[in-house]
Amino acid sequence: MTDLERRSDRSPVPADWTYAPAPESTDIVRLQERYGLYVGGTWIDTKEHFTTISPRDESPLAEVGQASEADVQGAVAAAREAFGAWSKLPGSERAKYLFRIARILAERSREFAVLESLNGGKPIKESRDVDLPLAAAHFFYYAGWADKLEYAYPNRSAKPLGVAGQIIPWNFPLLMLAWKIAPALAAGNTVVLKPAETTPLTALLFCDVVRQAELPPGVVNIVTGDGSTGAALVESDVDKIAFTGSTEVGKAIQRRLAGTGKKLTLELGGKAANIVFDDCALDQAVEGIVNGIYFNQGHVCCAGSRLFVQESIYEPVVEKLKKRMTTLRVGDPLDKNTDVGAINSRMQLEKIEELVAAGKEEGAEIYQPPCRLPEKGYWFAPTVFTNVAQSYRIAQEEIFGPVLSVLTFRTPDEAVEKANNTPYGLSAGVWTEKGSRILWMAERLRAGVVWANTFNRFDPTSPFGGYKESGFGREGGLHGMEPYLDFS
Ligand code: NDP
Repeated sequence: MTDLERRSDRSPVPADWTYAPAPESTDIVRLQERYGLYVGGTWIDTKEHFTTISPRDESPLAEVGQASEADVQGAVAAAREAFGAWSKLPGSERAKYLFRIARILAERSREFAVLESLNGGKPIKESRDVDLPLAAAHFFYYAGWADKLEYAYPNRSAKPLGVAGQIIPWNFPLLMLAWKIAPALAAGNTVVLKPAETTPLTALLFCDVVRQAELPPGVVNIVTGDGSTGAALVESDVDKIAFTGSTEVGKAIQRRLAGTGKKLTLELGGKAANIVFDDCALDQAVEGIVNGIYFNQGHVCCAGSRLFVQESIYEPVVEKLKKRMTTLRVGDPLDKNTDVGAINSRMQLEKIEELVAAGKEEGAEIYQPPCRLPEKGYWFAPTVFTNVAQSYRIAQEEIFGPVLSVLTFRTPDEAVEKANNTPYGLSAGVWTEKGSRILWMAERLRAGVVWANTFNRFDPTSPFGGYKESGFGREGGLHGMEPYLDFS
């Protein structure tokens, strides 16, 4: 008998079957006390700074620069200077740098994943298994197109635009950076990117990847700050703005840029319908519902936040869903077993609480599984509302948190009508075993992405973007490179 077998003979039977803590070590991350702005390949300091914290315990992580209008103009000037040489490089040379970035991201993925979870609050298993692989995949994918623009857009002469100003939100900080920077660089542009105020750290770590990849100075510039820094970037001498964030700010940017000749793409909010027909694989659909709304604490623009269940299966679906919700582990984002991490900021938590209170007041029935939330930090238990009317705020407004509203329908026509009854149009999900019904629904749903028998799947080759108040322009695939090119 081996030692191993002998020892296992004596192992005690566990007292209960809950998971033991499985904390991911943070040792791999080396934070600086203070960060400046990354401009023209060097770090420059700012007059003002702000503290970035971890939403899991509100502990301060680092001081980050608050870029002023002049700082932003300096970054745009550095990008403009770099544009000449960068845009003239053969595509195969630009590709080389993008491949290097992809490789370095893959090699340093654990470090990035830990930092993403620390600064943003998302579970480590999501930053490790979703954000990082996808971010690297975006650079790999667009690297492949950099020397093939004439094949990507045959009979059209594709030229880079110049300097792209890019403003990103806090829900997928590094992934949104990759979605923005990879196609812009592949197309021959240079960029100035502003990360969200609450999650600047992976963008700042990315500057070290840029250094390692020996990207020419000024091709990528990172300016940190609050909304005023974003507004300064919109005002600056850029050729294009790519924005992901709230519909409200997106509209303000669109108003500001109207008539200026600057190009604009907007990826805004959503209130996706996840539609479950009575012939679907029920357990699989319940997993899809859970993934659709509780993935990344529901901080997902395409989250399946409105669940439409065919009336005949309403009861089993709700029952299975509630049962499944009791098994979700809410807690420390850095625990490898955590399913639902911390809410990104106090502001976002207050917004979720306000909308949930409105749901209760309007008469919806709330269910939250029993779970012990940590004392420090920002937390919200996974929540489902039943008895929801279409007119309730929780069925109309983007909550951007782990809160699901359940509604019902009888016929496919009714499902389409109800699903499209929203100012948004970013994504939708359909659960049915009938291929013909999937196609019928997909044709009629006014949403940029329609998932069938799955939800929240992303791929760099696939375009993503919205209709109506969810914005315009696409990211991902060839469609995602087009807004960075001039075909005139
Ligand atoms: P914002 O739209 O305010 O933020 C998105 C980005 O824009 C951030 O980098 C932000 O900077 C910047 N920004 C803010 N004001 C301006 C401005 N006037 N001009 C240019 N850039 C600006 O979203 P919030 O973070 O405030 O979130 C509010 C709500 O928006 C959420 O509750 C959610 O409903 C929705 N949202 C949707 C997202 C999506 O992916 N569609 C992503 C994030 C939020 P800073 O962070 O410094 O404020």
